Amino acid sequence: MKSTISAILASCLLLGVASEARADTCDTVRGTDPGVMTSFWCTQPWIDFYWDAYDFDKGDWDDGFGWEAACDRRRPLARTFQAIELLNYASPNEPLKTNDFNGNILRWGGNYTIREFDELDARCGDGSKRAYTTWGGFDDYTELYIPFFYNENVVERAGTLIHESRHADWCGHSGNDGSNKCPAKSESCDEKYLDGCSGIGSPSGRGADGYQVLWLWWYAFEADAQHSSSTMKAFARDEANRILNTMFDVNPCFNITSNGSKIITC
Ligand SMILES: [Zn+2]
Repeated sequence: MKSTISAILASCLLLGVASEARADTCDTVRGTDPGVMTSFWCTQPWIDFYWDAYDFDKGDWDDGFGWEAACDRRRPLARTFQAIELLNYASPNEPLKTNDFNGNILRWGGNYTIREFDELDARCGDGSKRAYTTWGGFDDYTELYIPFFYNENVVERAGTLIHESRHADWCGHSGNDGSNKCPAKSESCDEKYLDGCSGIGSPSGRGADGYQVLWLWWYAFEADAQHSSSTMKAFARDEANRILNTMFDVNPCFNITSNGSKIITC
């Protein structure tokens, strides 16, 4: 079988970053994915439902990205579906309808992403970002790039989708400004853990980083056995703590453990 992903980059460069998916033309190192889950997600009714729910389009996911082979975990589409499965099923008390927003973010996070994303598109990207969301215009969309597909484990991918869906809800980053810039010195920082949105028409409260941490925290605390493992909960802990320690201008002063306990750090 031809090397699906290694073939991808060359053609992106040759063709330029076209408006189509063109996965066969991206070049990347393919990551491994510990924490193998059931293959529950890969049934045709499941794929049909989430393909519509997240507004995937063939033109954004063909050319090697996975439209041709939706169950192939080496392809971006299946790796996105894996994260979508976590978002919608990892709660021990998962919602049965997409308009159910009761309970904590592990329970309603999947429904939030479904509601807020205008469309999910696969692109090569330039390697500098995992994902990018544009909002507030005539054509809103979220693009997922090669580092999202291959440099992130499935728990990180789920967290990134929560993060981007908060942007799709018109919440922009509010941090890395003034005299108290965040440790990461990144445009993706928020001011505070509980207060991180900015921009015209933005909601108040937790920003994209705060949503991401909160989902990862609840995942570590109570994700069900079918959609987690000790390894995957350690991934959630590490990603949450990375964000807590580097992505807020005002230090939240806590970390979490892999079972969702809280550790005061300052
Ligand atoms: Zn962001």
